[in-house]
Amino acid sequence: MIQTEPLPWTEAVLDRGCERRSAPGFLEGLRASGESRCMILVDGKTLIHSDKIVFVDARRLPTDGLAVYLGRATAAAARVFGVEPAQVQRPGPASVSTGLSPEDDVLLVVLPAEAAAALLSMAPAGTRLAGYREAALSLPAADAGIFIEASAIANWHRTHKHCPLCGAITRAEAAGWVRRCPQDNSEHYPRTDPAIIVAVVGPDERILLGGGSKWEANRYSTLAGFVEPGESLEQAVVREIGEEVGVRLHSPSYLGSQSWPFPASLMLGYLARTDDTEAVPDGVEITRARWFSRDELQQAVSRGEVVISARTSIARALIEHWYGGRILEAGEVAE
Ligand SMILES: [Zn+2]
Repeated sequence: MIQTEPLPWTEAVLDRGCERRSAPGFLEGLRASGESRCMILVDGKTLIHSDKIVFVDARRLPTDGLAVYLGRATAAAARVFGVEPAQVQRPGPASVSTGLSPEDDVLLVVLPAEAAAALLSMAPAGTRLAGYREAALSLPAADAGIFIEASAIANWHRTHKHCPLCGAITRAEAAGWVRRCPQDNSEHYPRTDPAIIVAVVGPDERILLGGGSKWEANRYSTLAGFVEPGESLEQAVVREIGEEVGVRLHSPSYLGSQSWPFPASLMLGYLARTDDTEAVPDGVEITRARWFSRDELQQAVSRGEVVISARTSIARALIEHWYGGRILEAGEVAE
């Protein structure tokens, strides 16, 4: 029997304050006040110390970088994720710190690569710049959630500088959540590309996992693909899996989603069943496909013969949803 617990990403770490952030001067006021906590992005990387994001007082940062209001830390952030502020360098207003308290306002400041050396020099020893993929496995869930939001909005600004109507350079407004064209006054909002990711379950309860030629030969994951314009999510589930492995799906059921802003995806997780027992990889996106029973998968993973997606991913959450619990990695023992 397949369990029905929700996937992990249900509770917001930050209250984005959509009304608050639209007020004129809101962002500028926060940057000047010293009462906000700034996460930095330099080439997609942020400051990490002791496996936590390092936040910097806005007044210590250059004022010409793009700034975005990420939101106000919720009580849930502290309750659910056990976040507590920790000063990693004193004194007082010039401090840099990790962790958040409820009600802390969090900004993102995007700086050019040249700023990296100065940033690291103001941070305590042991601070490094790390990208999301590298940092995520050891970050607390609250920090990972903030890193995802920051990456998503920063990637949109980076790739949407020009007005799609006239080509003019647009300007950020509403604390970084709108860009406006100075020529035709059109407003442009951040984009998210929906993609489906599917745990395919066969008639005998085995799961179908696949891999591509760009991966190591023993790596397997759930199958995924982008939703096309004019398509429902369910249609995309059936079409993509049909294209990738030639399996006909029925009764897709939605389980949950994960933002994956590299550059702009929202992964929508499904479980779907098939009566087919043969899977034929398309040889392009998918070069191998394999059915696993629960015992086969656990044994293959713990022997190191098969590598599945990391615990921070929706792919892993879907596989473990089907499995009915935690799948142990090689060398791990049950708690
Ligand atoms: Zn325009």
